[in-house]
Amino acid sequence: MGATLDLSRAPTAKAPAKPNIAGMTRDELRAAIVDAAVALAPKARMRASQVWRWVHHYGVTDFDRMTDVAKETRAAMAKAFTLARPEVVERQVSRDGTRKWLIRTAPGVEVETVYIPDVGRAGALCVSSQVGCTLNCTFCHTGTQALVRNLTAAEIVAQVQVARDDLGEWPSPKEDRRLSNIVFMGMGEPLYNLDGVAAAIDIIADNEGIAISRRRITVSTSGVVPELKALGERTQAMLAISLHATRDALRDELVPLNRKYPIAELMAAIRAYPGLSNARRVTFEYVMLKGVNDTPADAKALVRLLAGLPAKINLIPFNPWPGAIHECSDWPTIEAFAAILNRAGYASPIRTPRGRDILAACGQLKSESEKLRASARRKVTSS
Ligand code: SAH
Ligand code: SF4
Repeated sequence: MGATLDLSRAPTAKAPAKPNIAGMTRDELRAAIVDAAVALAPKARMRASQVWRWVHHYGVTDFDRMTDVAKETRAAMAKAFTLARPEVVERQVSRDGTRKWLIRTAPGVEVETVYIPDVGRAGALCVSSQVGCTLNCTFCHTGTQALVRNLTAAEIVAQVQVARDDLGEWPSPKEDRRLSNIVFMGMGEPLYNLDGVAAAIDIIADNEGIAISRRRITVSTSGVVPELKALGERTQAMLAISLHATRDALRDELVPLNRKYPIAELMAAIRAYPGLSNARRVTFEYVMLKGVNDTPADAKALVRLLAGLPAKINLIPFNPWPGAIHECSDWPTIEAFAAILNRAGYASPIRTPRGRDILAACGQLKSESEKLRASARRKVTSS
């Protein structure tokens, strides 16, 4: 069997009382170093740069590895801050190379992160921005879970660090990386956590550290219209829109947020997205739901709606989950839909399902592993 399922767990880590340096932007790090009296203000900039490189380029988790920082300073930093990684509760590897981690960042706060090889330049990491979601898209399992809370920048960056640890990508390679792209397509609505997401992107994109270019970072939203401009201005990230329907009546049902921000308003905000160009296209995600949004007429309406926009289309075969009211469209239906998009000039629009054997697909995160763990617990107690 190619897939492994590791249910072993270390004892629960206590929530760190000290702030984690990995979640601080450069400015915050400098200020924190001054506040903690680790360096006098004029030296703080240099000290912060040194520390930054150790944390984000070398990925160290121990202040004592920072060999060009004076011993007393290292000790003072260790007193004031932490560099500890969160606990990895579960790690799974799919037959197709997809990897999934369940990460406990604080007691009761667990997030899933998925690495998908051969996506983007080399491989993409799908990160979560919230635990649960306040929106209730009918086809999404995350939407059935109440929002626990927004993730902090540190908790978002930690997802990248954990993946990097596992892929053996420290120090940050400039060439031949396996983790080349980041997509905010895990749990939650990133635009309801713009502060955390924007700070995390500043950290991840920094050239002296993890150095993933903003052009390789994509933020997916269900369409929080008032935040789109700020997203573009604050992050310069690539935009993905979960469209799924071209008529308000249907989108109101599938993506209830549409009742607040209908399609015409959404399209206007997308056209005004900062930096949009042929080299920086917006991606439209469209989940294929049998008998709901998958006819040739729907495909033609999609082409009409996107006319004149620098756009890519991503058709996502629906990933079923227990209790879902939808089914995935048949393969010939998806192909016929894609052919119409192809003829209109959109290349290879079908997203191949990945990591299905480890339940790592879109919209399946977290709850499925909770179920698996619950059943594993049952097995342990009954044996
Ligand atoms: N909240 C954001 C980002 C997370 S969802 C958003 O909605 O865009 C990432 C993508 O997965 C979205 O396009 C979402 O519509 C899609 N998705 C959710 N559940 C799915 C499922 N069961 N099958 C296929 N795609 C799904
Ligand atoms: Fe939330 Fe996105 Fe799922 Fe909708 S699709 S419920 S916005 S995570």
